[in-house]
Amino acid sequence: MAAFLEVRDLSAGYHTSRGLIRVLDSVSFSMEHGETVCLVGESGSGKSVTALTLMRLLEYENGSVLSGSIELLGEDLLKKSPEDMRRVRGRLISMVFQEPMTALNPVITIGRQIGDIIRTHTEAGAEGARRRSVELLRTVGIPEPELRARQYPHQLSGGMRQRVMIAMAISCAPKLLIADEPTTALDVTIQAQILHLLRDLKHRTGMALIFITHDIDVAARIADRIIVMYAGKIVETGGCGELLSSPRHPYTRGLLDSPPDIGGAPRTRLQSIGGSVPAPWDTPKGCRFHPRCPYSTRECTEREPPITRGDNYSVSCLHHDRWPRELPADRRSPGGGS
Ligand code: ADP
Ligand code: MG
Repeated sequence: MAAFLEVRDLSAGYHTSRGLIRVLDSVSFSMEHGETVCLVGESGSGKSVTALTLMRLLEYENGSVLSGSIELLGEDLLKKSPEDMRRVRGRLISMVFQEPMTALNPVITIGRQIGDIIRTHTEAGAEGARRRSVELLRTVGIPEPELRARQYPHQLSGGMRQRVMIAMAISCAPKLLIADEPTTALDVTIQAQILHLLRDLKHRTGMALIFITHDIDVAARIADRIIVMYAGKIVETGGCGELLSSPRHPYTRGLLDSPPDIGGAPRTRLQSIGGSVPAPWDTPKGCRFHPRCPYSTRECTEREPPITRGDNYSVSCLHHDRWPRELPADRRSPGGGS
């Protein structure tokens, strides 16, 4: 059977004052029906660009896809017309953005905003859409949904607004939901509730989920499989348990060694290995991670690591089968600088 989602060799870039800047480089991965895949990596790794590309929204942000294909249920999304894509978004594939306040319209009631989406994608009339909105608010765990539907975004807490965003995203029963850092702006208690809600919705609907987070500890709590990205490339993929217990890429090890994320600020540096993600116009030669890698050799500075694939994993590191799994004490802070 064909994979549910098959992304092949996807490269994408932004048109900037520096010219075309490539921010995704030959990204390939696949997903099964109903699977939860987490995209993990520090800020600037290319996670959101991947999501926007899958949604075909990159082209509305001065970006373009340079090559590759995105087959969802056997159809290449990159070959669809903007008109067809409008139908795909919402019904087949849908997205929850990180910042609910910028994605919600402040002057329209919650119920009306959800209702509008339902009416755009279905035959429902005004009353049907209203009832369905209330039902959706209940589904995502909002108390007193009738009352909340008549309120405006600012009258809800951050956690409640994120639930509203999820209600909007699932309003047309998508087969694939993409949630881009949906819990990053929330405190840990609310974050746990949202993770619980997403798991529960998946269980009830059978939809597949791409969950994006910079925090590998959050990924650990929801993923079936994890995809680790660095500087626009996938560096490692694997089943959640195996990848977390025995990472094959030193970058994954670095993410795991970083202290837990408290305060909710995106993790911009790896405490354990120093430095930060290079700018896309300043990508190092060879392995992109080599300037920060405690195990890099001269070969790493010259040769791009090929992808090694095994049973249910892949890794791009020349030394993936050789580096010691514990960092040598004297190389824990190589002063990668940032
Ligand atoms: P992540 O979501 O992993 O934090 P992004 O996918 O947002 O990272 O960004 C990947 C790279 O693309 C970064 O180097 C970022 O600076 C760049 N980028 C993101 N949005 C734009 C844009 N609108 N124009 C130019 N470059 C961008
Ligand atoms: Mg992002």
